[in-house]
Parts: sequence; structure tokens; C-alpha cells
Amino acid sequence: MTKPAVAAESLVALGATERRLDAYANYEIALGTLRISRALPVKGRRLIGPWCFLDRFGPLSFTEGMPMDVAPHPHMGLQTVTWLLDGEVVHDDSLGQEAILRPGGVNVMTSGHAIAHAERTPADNSGRLNGVQLWTALLDRDRHRAASFQHVTAVPVLEPRGGIVRVFSGGLAETVSPAEHFSDLVGADLQIHRDETLEIPLRRDFEYGILVLTGDCHLDGQPLRERVLYYLGMQRTEAAFASHGGARLLLVGGPPFPEAILMWWNFVARTPDEISEARDDWERGLRFGDVTAYKGSRLAAPELVRLARPNPVS
Ligand code: MN
Repeated sequence: MTKPAVAAESLVALGATERRLDAYANYEIALGTLRISRALPVKGRRLIGPWCFLDRFGPLSFTEGMPMDVAPHPHMGLQTVTWLLDGEVVHDDSLGQEAILRPGGVNVMTSGHAIAHAERTPADNSGRLNGVQLWTALLDRDRHRAASFQHVTAVPVLEPRGGIVRVFSGGLAETVSPAEHFSDLVGADLQIHRDETLEIPLRRDFEYGILVLTGDCHLDGQPLRERVLYYLGMQRTEAAFASHGGARLLLVGGPPFPEAILMWWNFVARTPDEISEARDDWERGLRFGDVTAYKGSRLAAPELVRLARPNPVS
């Protein structure tokens, strides 16, 4: 069987220093039997703060089988953040940790130098699946740390005029998620009630992105569509989202990431050698450990066809 080939991408922050409202269409990919809409990285927009990856899965209903069944695979140099609107996902990792994620909670896995995990729909399920998975790149000072996993059952919820704000990562105004992160960032789910406007405070030194999860909404007088990532730039002190029928939005942000990263498959690194060493270690069963709770074979690494050096920022 021919393994799929993946080329490494070098990613640098292209943080705008001013307000923007740039639109980037998502693209569809298959993850096993699950169709995914990928919002980050996309051509022209690779990072928003430390956020380097954003996949949207669902909404879908099912009557049999497991729509999410991602076999054990390795990670390095990043954190994974899983957030659900509906349904449930079981996480198992090579530290022996297992957690069932449900709406309102968040799973944050810090890969550090090495971890492996699997994510699947549990046998006992609601027959629905709807959510996102994000990655944050770890700074050079943090990326070799020991792996860890954190399950937060209920993230902080704010109910300002016009909607509901759920802060799953970082902070928004005075509200801070208990999820552990290693650099400044925010990840939040913004719910706008029908015929209302939700205004949220933003930081001038953060760049922000918005993904419409469901519903209709306007920002700066412009309609925002589903399956499109909107880049808001920096220098904003607030944003007001107006909706007629109600909406859910994903907000991500942070200071422009100060380091150039190299991203290949499930690894975030700095040099091509680090990527090929990590790939070899996974293929030889070294470093990343085993996900013993998962019954079935693990994912094989793709072929490494092209590995460009990261472009220095200057
Ligand atoms: Mn993963």
C-alpha cells in the first residue's frame, strides 16, 4: 500500500499590525470516514497568535459506527485543544490517561517533546458529533517539556448582554480558563442570541480570527459566512457581533507568534532534522509510547517527500 506523502510547511507569523477583515475559505479533507473542514493553516494565513491548526468536524448525526476513530498517532512541539458543541469524544494517550469530553468541557494535551494519543466516538454516545480541534505551537522554551494532559469538565461561562461566552483557553477580559497554556492566547466560543448584538473586549496587542460555527452574524457591517476563516488583524479594543437568527462563533487570538516554525504531519519543529528524527522514532516504536487503551493498529507516518528549511522572518 502506498502511504500518502506530506510536504513540510514552514510557517511564520504574518501578523497584520492594523485592523483587518480578511476572508480565507476552509477546505474539505477526509480524516478516516469523517469529513473535516480545515480552517488553519490555509494559504496566506498560517498562524493566528500561537494557533497553528483548526479543524471543524460535524455537525452530523449517526445511527451506527463511530464517525470519529483516529487511531494512535504522535505529536511533538504543540498542544491539542478539543472543544465540542455536541456529542462526545474519548481521548486516550500514551501517558495512560483517558477522558470523555462533552460539550462545555475542554481537553488540552501538551505534547512537549513526545506523546501519542487516539480520539474516537465512545460506544455509548448521543448519535451526534459537532466540534473543533485546534493546535497551539509551543515556544522554543516550552516545546521540549514533558507531555501532559488536562481534562476540564466545565469551562468558565460569561453571560453578557446579547449572548453567552465560553472561554476554553486563555482569558477574555477577567475570565480565565483553567486550561494550562504556556503563552498568551485566547480561545472562546461566542453565542449570540437571536436579534441581539454581542460585544466583547479585545486586546490591541493580539491578532484574532473568527470561524462561524453555526448561524448568521455580522461584524463591521459585513456578513460572516460558515466555512470561512476571518482574520481580524490587531489594534482592536472590541468587536460587536450582530445576529438575526442566533449564531455560534469560534474566537482565537494571541500576540503574533515570535518564532518561525516547521510543521509536518502532527509535528511542530524548527529544523528538518527534528522532523525526520521524530518520524523515524514513531516508525520504530521509540519515544512516543503506546496508547494501550486503543484496540487496533496505530497510524503509519506519511512519506517525507519534501522538507524545506523554514524561512527566517528577516
Ligand atoms: Mn492528534
